[in-house]
Amino acid sequence: MPASRLQGLGSVPRLDWIRLPLIGRFLRWRRARLVLQCGMGLLAALLVFEGLAGPQLAPKNLSTLAVWVHWRGALVLGLLVLGNVFCMGCPLLLPRELARKIRQPVRNWPRLLRKKWIGLGLFAGVLFVYEWLDLWASPTATAWAILIYFGVALFVDAFFRGAPFCKWVCPVGQFNFVASTFSPFEVRARDQAVCGGCTTKDCIKGRVEAAPAKAIASAVPAPAETVVQRGCELGLFLPSKVGNLDCTFCLDCVQACPEDNVAIALRVPAEELKVDPVRSGIGRISKRNDLAVLTIVFAFGALLNAFGMVGPVYALQRSMAAFLGTQSDFIILGILFFVCLVILPALCIGLTAWLAARHSTSSLWAHARRFSFTLAPLGFGVWLAHYCFHFLTGLWTIVPVTQAALLRYGIEWVGRPSWGLGGLHEAWVWPIEIGFVGLGLVGSLGLAWSLSERDFGRTAAKAFLPWAGLILALAGTALWLLAQPMEMRGTFL
Ligand code: SF4
Ligand code: SF4
Repeated sequence: MPASRLQGLGSVPRLDWIRLPLIGRFLRWRRARLVLQCGMGLLAALLVFEGLAGPQLAPKNLSTLAVWVHWRGALVLGLLVLGNVFCMGCPLLLPRELARKIRQPVRNWPRLLRKKWIGLGLFAGVLFVYEWLDLWASPTATAWAILIYFGVALFVDAFFRGAPFCKWVCPVGQFNFVASTFSPFEVRARDQAVCGGCTTKDCIKGRVEAAPAKAIASAVPAPAETVVQRGCELGLFLPSKVGNLDCTFCLDCVQACPEDNVAIALRVPAEELKVDPVRSGIGRISKRNDLAVLTIVFAFGALLNAFGMVGPVYALQRSMAAFLGTQSDFIILGILFFVCLVILPALCIGLTAWLAARHSTSSLWAHARRFSFTLAPLGFGVWLAHYCFHFLTGLWTIVPVTQAALLRYGIEWVGRPSWGLGGLHEAWVWPIEIGFVGLGLVGSLGLAWSLSERDFGRTAAKAFLPWAGLILALAGTALWLLAQPMEMRGTFL
């Protein structure tokens, strides 16, 4: 598949959000993102307040229920049917916008840190802390987690130019970037020919205007130009942007492009992982150790996160406690996480890569790095299945909990909470979970075959089979985990 097709060369998208009658008009509106962010910001403020001041029984608290059940479910479903819509309306950036009105940062994010290692470490750290501190069961801890998240985002983006928090630090962002490789829509140049003739490159540089002559001539030195519209803060230049990696769907490029040449276009999910062109702001993914490791942790983390909620994990933890002679959750979970996110992936990927590439001349490391991306669709399928289980089985629980919260604030017209409301029956959700894992499985197998064909030609089957074996083993493990009775975290009353 030529990269040019993925970059939209000669193919004006058939379906483009930006050109839809009502939605398109809203998305082109300069304040669209701000409106979404303010809505999400108000919700975040309410959840913090509820977490600190509301009832401390998790299933009755809006903060724990909305964050750990409904928000996570909505996040993965949004990624599945649309794209990175959470980042589009992310409220974490609101405080930094205010801070930057007072003082613009002048430092650039250090070159040494321009890799995903911090975000990757935080992603694994969030999974760990979630289990260790039982965040899903503690409204207060959930509220503090939201506040700390806002604080870190503000701290990073108040000191450094651009959007380093989104690109290099935010653990949810890194999750969304990998998951959105499977999304059906992407932000891209609508027509490459138009970009070819473009002289301004505003989508990356932003648009500046000369300051009024009076200001320049005044005694107080003033900047000669003001930025009227910023370009892509994630460093993605539309003509050479490929896929959704690192794209927050912020739509600054839509505002900046003077040719109205940016689309949110329909595309084939995961196709961006088949090709390996030099991507703007990213380079070749086949050369990125950090992105490959992020994808591996994303996939194995999906299994680990599901493992944390089923019976066998408690039996294992008890055995480990007896063997090690400690009751410390920190130590036991720390070992479990280290084994499941470091040792096991290293053994699985190392062995599979050795089996697949042992007859070829390509370097084992390079092969493992390139083929690690085949785990992204399956990993996303497992996250989807897991989060949708909680979301769908607890779907309507948000209604009585919201009613109870509003009653506490004196809003009585909402009526008495209907505590009997639950969600879909587990028996209905199970086929959906199988479907999501199956979808990821097909995506991963297809990707592995495509890369094998490209790299190994006539001996593609020899390279494909070990990777297919690993992918099938992971999918089988996921189905076994999801078939176990799962803790109804946050919803069981
Ligand atoms: S500003 Fe618009 S036309 Fe110019 S390169 Fe960017 S997307 Fe293309
Ligand atoms: S400005 Fe950059 S991050 Fe934002 S939507 Fe456009 S390409 Fe994506």
